[in-house]
Amino acid sequence: MAAALVVLAMSCTTTLAQPTGAGGMHHDLRVVLDPATRELQAEDAITLAGDASVGLELSTQFAIEQFTIDAVPVASKPELLADGRARWTLETEGPGSHRIVLRYHGPLAPLPDTDHRGTLQGLPPMADVRGSFLPGDTGWYPQVRGRTFTYRLVLELPAGQRGLAPGRLVSETDNAQGYRAVFDFPFPAESIDLLAGPYEVQERWLARKGGAAIRLRTWFHPEIRDLAPGYLDALGHYIDFYSDWIGAYPFSEFSVVSSPLQTGFGMPTLTYLGIDVLRLPFIRSTSLGHEVLHNWWGNGVYVDYETGNWSEGLTTFMADYTYKEEESAQAALDLRLSWLRDLAAIPPGQDYPLREFTARTHGTSQIVGYHKAAFVFLMLRDRLGTDTFTRGLRDFWREQRFQRAGWTDLQHAFEQASGQRLDTFFEQWLTRKGVPQVRIDRADVERTGGSLRIGVTLTQTEPAYALRVPLVLDSADARQTQLVDLVGTRGEFVLDSASLPTAVALDPSLRLARRLEARELPPILRQVMLDPSTVMVVATSDGSFRTSAQQLAGKLLDAAPRVMGADQPMPGTPLLVVGARSEVDAFLRKHGLPPRPPELDERGSAQVWASTQPDGTALLVISAGDAQALQAMQRSLPHYGRQSWLVFDGAKVIDRGVWPAQALSWPLQ
Ligand SMILES: [Zn+2]
Repeated sequence: MAAALVVLAMSCTTTLAQPTGAGGMHHDLRVVLDPATRELQAEDAITLAGDASVGLELSTQFAIEQFTIDAVPVASKPELLADGRARWTLETEGPGSHRIVLRYHGPLAPLPDTDHRGTLQGLPPMADVRGSFLPGDTGWYPQVRGRTFTYRLVLELPAGQRGLAPGRLVSETDNAQGYRAVFDFPFPAESIDLLAGPYEVQERWLARKGGAAIRLRTWFHPEIRDLAPGYLDALGHYIDFYSDWIGAYPFSEFSVVSSPLQTGFGMPTLTYLGIDVLRLPFIRSTSLGHEVLHNWWGNGVYVDYETGNWSEGLTTFMADYTYKEEESAQAALDLRLSWLRDLAAIPPGQDYPLREFTARTHGTSQIVGYHKAAFVFLMLRDRLGTDTFTRGLRDFWREQRFQRAGWTDLQHAFEQASGQRLDTFFEQWLTRKGVPQVRIDRADVERTGGSLRIGVTLTQTEPAYALRVPLVLDSADARQTQLVDLVGTRGEFVLDSASLPTAVALDPSLRLARRLEARELPPILRQVMLDPSTVMVVATSDGSFRTSAQQLAGKLLDAAPRVMGADQPMPGTPLLVVGARSEVDAFLRKHGLPPRPPELDERGSAQVWASTQPDGTALLVISAGDAQALQAMQRSLPHYGRQSWLVFDGAKVIDRGVWPAQALSWPLQ
């Protein structure tokens, strides 16, 4: 289903370097790949210093032609590992540098079926004229466990093919004899990814103040060559944007590389995205910037996985969330609401503290590791102020560049920048499961002399968080926000007000990571789409309309719905109502359901809206002019589950939105 693709494309899988010890190791690799026959020939010379015992691993799919250590053939038998690798334990003795040479060849796997949904993880090294991908952790070159290294890689491909590895392009020749390129990676690396395909390369140089220009490239399949200029423009924008914000881009190039698979990978100096993903119009304005930013967070400062992965949350905050803030205050609010909605919906047994997040493996890990973490950075910026927050980020970058860093290093940087202790802040958000639930317990007005004082009592669930809670006083002519510090499970506060407010509202702009109450969550389409107990009513007797409505429901709902007659009593379950305009309106009236929202009225060829039945269960209404209008929306409607309402004109969505959240407020008049 294309929706899954969209989700995958929106949240990257980043192959992060993970330095685990002293450097001093270097790979000098020469790789000859023939994608047509899938044959790989390679020679690797590994240099390492001093006495060492190293575990060297290579996939058993390769035949070894030569294997020496300091020119002496290696005679020992390898241990065979369960993942299809052979492992040799080698000893180097004596001072100075030692040299391990391995020459080998063998066939790579064919590409998997591109419709296969499991292509994101666990791919073997693969070759095909449409595209070859040798992931770094698959034993396609001799890997030494637990050691980082630098490398130089010479790649040779037949004519018509081009390829690359992360790093600086040192030299390149491309003619009728074939393609040859040399890449140099001078920073600590943990693995080497290799990509090749029938690429057309487009290149642009990005000037930078006080440094050498950065080489920007697209390596695209010919069928998407027209997309290249737009991607190069966007790359230049992102590299400038983050260089100004954080500090200079740390590498000499960045490439966007197309893949025949529906993948989304980020690596140092490049991102590898499926052809169909690159065609999606929003990738340039969302995922691409996220991947570029990983060259600072993740591939510039490495993640100390033993103490948790901070890089996805910081990247999500500074990319995905920041783009929404640039778009509009409403777009940013909508994203916060959608994150809080997901946080409120984590099933009890599946939640875990942010500190335990290391990588995205399922839905909950994305909600905690990306969205909750991004919210923590938002709250930190609110607390410290934008300038101090930015100073902390810049210091963190300057001090930790190409080193492994953890949450405590980030905390330290923000403490240095702000002069504040942040133990409590980081401790509560990193080590606890879930988020607090905060309520107004009581509010009243006190008049003393000529002044007004508003007394507000707040409560929160155990364990109590230290929270800076925005309270908003609404009066006829003004809206005034006051911040109060709630540290225990109960707090009493007195607010001054110049005029008599109509109500006091708790955090109506959703700036705290807190558990929202049901009434704070406006209805969206997905509630009916996902619920297996949804019942469908087709409010018409027209046969072709009924057929189209059932086809649409088949595409829209996760489970086949029970179909109910329009005259039967309400079932007390989530309800999907489909019909022509007058029939829908009559049905809603007859059963005492909320009427058609005035905003949608008669716009477009069809209107869709989510609402709530009087008993609190979800309602989704699809009102269409005719059967054709229903058919036209089949493809796109399932992608809009996070919206509250949509207006269609044929197959096209011409307007959409989320109903405003109902704030928790206490009336004062
Ligand atoms: Zn990411």
